[in-house]
Amino acid sequence: MTKPVFRFAPSPNGRLHLGHAYSALLNADFAGRFGGRFLLRIEDIDITRCRPDFEAAIHEDLAWLGLQWEIPVRRQSEHFADYRAAFLKLKGRGVVYPCFCTRRDIVQAVARREQESGRDWPRDPDGAPLYPGTCREVPAAEAERRIAAGEPQAWRLDSAAAQKLRPGPHAFRRFDRDGREETVAADPWRWGDAVIVRKETPSSYHLSVVVDDALQGVTHVVRGQDLEAATDLHVLLQALLDLPTPLYHHHGLVLDPTGDKLAKSRQSPALSELRADGVTPQAIRRRLGF
Ligand code: GLU
Repeated sequence: MTKPVFRFAPSPNGRLHLGHAYSALLNADFAGRFGGRFLLRIEDIDITRCRPDFEAAIHEDLAWLGLQWEIPVRRQSEHFADYRAAFLKLKGRGVVYPCFCTRRDIVQAVARREQESGRDWPRDPDGAPLYPGTCREVPAAEAERRIAAGEPQAWRLDSAAAQKLRPGPHAFRRFDRDGREETVAADPWRWGDAVIVRKETPSSYHLSVVVDDALQGVTHVVRGQDLEAATDLHVLLQALLDLPTPLYHHHGLVLDPTGDKLAKSRQSPALSELRADGVTPQAIRRRLGF
């Protein structure tokens, strides 16, 4: 039997904190328990926010924690051709369409709909309003003209077309630390017409993550609960792209003393700062329950 494959997939847009340490250590712990492999993947498609010094710090912090991963490390920014190939497959299947809307266009369209209906417009699991579908109505010839004229465009999932092609029911398998598994129902439609290729970068987190998990043969995805809802969308993309669906484990998040999720934006202490303060990797492991 082939070995299970785990991965830790941080984005180099800030310093790693205890939450990242927990996720990385848990992946490595699972890999150890299940006799699996452990990969590191750098998720740096957002070229405006990712920085080489943050990337170097990821390697440094993880090595300091005592982790070892396979070489070479996959860096997403080196694989836009793979994401493009996947995008073209979705396009060929008629399940994406170009969207020229600015954020402001969307806010205004949603406000109009809310005013007309007197009701709140539906939101996605992250709390953002579902895309109101404005560009779904743009005729193909007009869209082609606008693209040729250089108008910036994102590409969105045509969820109605996707639902026709892959009606489901969609589901994935969840696993726990004792190797128990259960089936979980997935509802990708609650994401509406999600962005699959962004305006600023020729991919998206959702597209790159399903392509890479498949290309790297990842069998077990271990990541935070904050990404649990996104898995529903990932399962649909896997179905649309004929990719296998890995098993998933969404772990609880490490909270700060006030009960908030640790975040770069909330000045949670970085591992490098804890290290500079004399905290040892052993103390971090203990504190995180390893
Ligand atoms: N790159 C994502 C993050 O840093 C994690 C992606 C994943 O594990 O699927 O939040």
